[in-house]
Amino acid sequence: MTQPKSPRFARSTDAIHAGIRKRRPHNSLAPGVAQTATYTFESTADLEQYMRGEDADPEREEYGRYGNPTVRELERRLAALEATDDAVAFSTGMAAITSTLFALLNQGDHVVLFRDCYRRTRQFVTGWLGRYGVLHTVVPPGDLEAMEAAITDKTKLVITESPTNPFNYCVDLAALSGKVKAKNRRTKTLVDSTFATPINCRPHNFGIDLVVHSATKYLSGHNDVLGGLVAGPAHLTSLVREARDVTGAMLDPHAAFLIARGMKTLGLRVRKQNESAVELTKMLAAHPKVTAVYYAGHAGHPSYATACEQMDGFGGVVSFEVKGGRAAASRVVDAAEIPSIAPSLGGVESLIEQPALMSYFEMSEEDLAKIGISGALIRYSVGVEDTEDIVRDLERALDQA
Ligand SMILES: *Cc1c(COP(=O)(O)O)cnc(C)c1O
Repeated sequence: MTQPKSPRFARSTDAIHAGIRKRRPHNSLAPGVAQTATYTFESTADLEQYMRGEDADPEREEYGRYGNPTVRELERRLAALEATDDAVAFSTGMAAITSTLFALLNQGDHVVLFRDCYRRTRQFVTGWLGRYGVLHTVVPPGDLEAMEAAITDKTKLVITESPTNPFNYCVDLAALSGKVKAKNRRTKTLVDSTFATPINCRPHNFGIDLVVHSATKYLSGHNDVLGGLVAGPAHLTSLVREARDVTGAMLDPHAAFLIARGMKTLGLRVRKQNESAVELTKMLAAHPKVTAVYYAGHAGHPSYATACEQMDGFGGVVSFEVKGGRAAASRVVDAAEIPSIAPSLGGVESLIEQPALMSYFEMSEEDLAKIGISGALIRYSVGVEDTEDIVRDLERALDQA
């Protein structure tokens, strides 16, 4: 099932309607949850017809690990939003990433990875793939020259994120894909676009081959479900789909329902989160206790020009550092009333965390400094609460701390 390359409608419209087969069972407006592990055949002749690929319904399913109509609808909707042929859904974002890499990579292949990729992606590439004979080179954040130099005739994949976590660095996606293809025509590019969402950026339009999402974050948007999706051209998504049949990392139908339901408000939520993050950044940039703000929509950010070029909004995560180090940052986090202290991001509830205490807890202060994570760093994921409330609450927490 392929989608038109240029959708007829705006993304906020597609987020609600794309991928739906018009007539649902019982004329229900809302999608049903196909809560089933397997599918039946009326007779052996019916089964044989299906096995020959001659079933009247091209979307008929055989077994729950291979496909599910509720999941399929979500996949089609994301494909429409990302303007790609197709998409494949997984039980988590990491299941999407690991299954995709298993699908594409063979012994002797080489991967180029930007250093500021999601910690578990980095761990999988640098710590696990070597066991299967897949080599890698890690290059500095956004350094396209280092990336170009690292690409060899064995390089199968270049992996990046934009914006990155927690510093919101953006990569010039058109320049990246152009340089990759010029150096090795066969090298594929993969962008983890979780932070951007298809509302703010569509990497495929800049020549990127595969777009990955942790649907746990903005796509579902309610901090109540885990999921992942990979979107891209049919010749690649079919390989990814086959890998899912084997790794078994299929998305649960009820989770698919929740993600699809959350996605209906993706346009509303993300635009509101963009708006609040901009206001929060303004307050932070002017606050005497704040020593640095990392938001791509902030004119002082190194990625500001790139972000303006390729994004329609700058996202809902704002990172910043405060005077007084780790202890002062903890006081700010504790004093803020609206955001909950939790990992994750992108949901309707604002969340706050100190990366040094969460994702990087096991690292010494010295090793943290090497990767540029300060004890004073705070990451704020803006929810959809009132903008003024979010800004005033954090301002008060800073004043008090
Ligand atoms: C959360 C996240 C992931 C992993 O997703 P899960 O759904 O938690 O497995 C991958 N990439 C980015 C950028 C993330 O924020």
